[in-house]
Amino acid sequence: MSLSLSADQPAVPADADDGVWLECIECGETFAPFEDVRYTCDECDGLLEVRYADLPTFADFEGRGVWRYGASLPLEEGVTIREGATPLYEVPRLEESVGVEALRIKHEGMNPTGSFKDRGMTVGVAVAKELGVDRLACASTGNTSAALAAYGSRGGMETLVLLPAGKVAAGKVAQASLHGARILEVDGNFDACLDVVQELAAKGEAYLLNSLNPFRLEGQKTIGLEILEGFLADYDAVPDRIVLPVGNAGNTSALYKAFRELVQAGELEEGEVPKLVGVQAEGAAPMVEAIENGADEVRRWDDVETRATAIRIGNPVNAPKALPGIRETGGTAISVTDEEITAAQRDLAGEGIGVEPASAASVAGLRKLRADGVVSDDERVACLTTGHLLKDPDAAAAAGRDPEPVPADTEGVLAHLQGE
Ligand SMILES: *Cc1c(COP(=O)(O)O)cnc(C)c1O
Ligand SMILES: [Zn+2]
Repeated sequence: MSLSLSADQPAVPADADDGVWLECIECGETFAPFEDVRYTCDECDGLLEVRYADLPTFADFEGRGVWRYGASLPLEEGVTIREGATPLYEVPRLEESVGVEALRIKHEGMNPTGSFKDRGMTVGVAVAKELGVDRLACASTGNTSAALAAYGSRGGMETLVLLPAGKVAAGKVAQASLHGARILEVDGNFDACLDVVQELAAKGEAYLLNSLNPFRLEGQKTIGLEILEGFLADYDAVPDRIVLPVGNAGNTSALYKAFRELVQAGELEEGEVPKLVGVQAEGAAPMVEAIENGADEVRRWDDVETRATAIRIGNPVNAPKALPGIRETGGTAISVTDEEITAAQRDLAGEGIGVEPASAASVAGLRKLRADGVVSDDERVACLTTGHLLKDPDAAAAAGRDPEPVPADTEGVLAHLQGE
């Protein structure tokens, strides 16, 4: 199986370009990477992965941010707004209350547009340029559209975003709008938007930059590489476990790929690879269902609902890559309620870390798994927080304290503070 942790480095096919090629994860067919636009396998429609003739070691990385990891990316430079190099925060109170040996928060909300999507776009938009396309498109629960709009405008390209009407947080629509994307509000959920944009892309109307695009996931591998380097620097060991929110399961797939490549490069022992734990909202948990049932495929959920709009997804397109990632690393998947998500959002805020609801799912999931005894007290864990608080100001205001009206004089304010 090509996605197993112990897979050998594949032979370099004739259609590789500079040691880089695309390979189908289902049938093994290979394709030249930059000649034609393609998102899935011509033969079997399976998902594609980028493969490399040479895999780098930690010593090959230099610089800061996503492009530090150029040696593990398909191009040497991207369309950049200085993405990556996000903080790996210590959270002593949260660590204590969850009850693990070490807990660190990798806050991807600290990227240029406020989510990890920037890491994928810096690579994906550069590949689009390489392919010579001029119009970019995505379906989005919000953050992908914000990142695409920003990176597309940076690259001087036209962008088209399809959003589920009424289900996108205010900050994200504002970003897509100001960065100049054409915003198409679809009367349907995210999965319906993705169906439409995939058909537009198939007709050659636009270049698709959803996480189905294998190049985007290459950029997102750098989250895993940064977490590993951070833990190696601070603990002289990689984390036991990485917990992350799951929507389309692009990050789960990308982190697993980063670890597989390090194993193949001889940089990481198979047994050292961090366990990957995917967290979904109860109202949108098809991956959790598949993991619990030991299923090889995910059943599409047609009706999904959660306050965590970024993971309000019923048909995770990267499941064929992510399910092996969770299983091969000895990880698991778990769902959490919206109330648990909001509680975790407050916990993080209490450490000074402002995240949008979907991001807090990771911490909510870890707390639950620790309480269930699945995670033990001697583990060192990294939780991924995927997006910034300001992405969803309405959710933040609802979860936070209410403003208190006071008169415009000091006596009155003092009286109010003293509870009179
Ligand atoms: C896109 C997104 C997710 C989902 O990530 P996947 O890689 O699709 O699983 C989670 N949280 C936020 C804030 C996002 O923007
Ligand atoms: Zn195939």
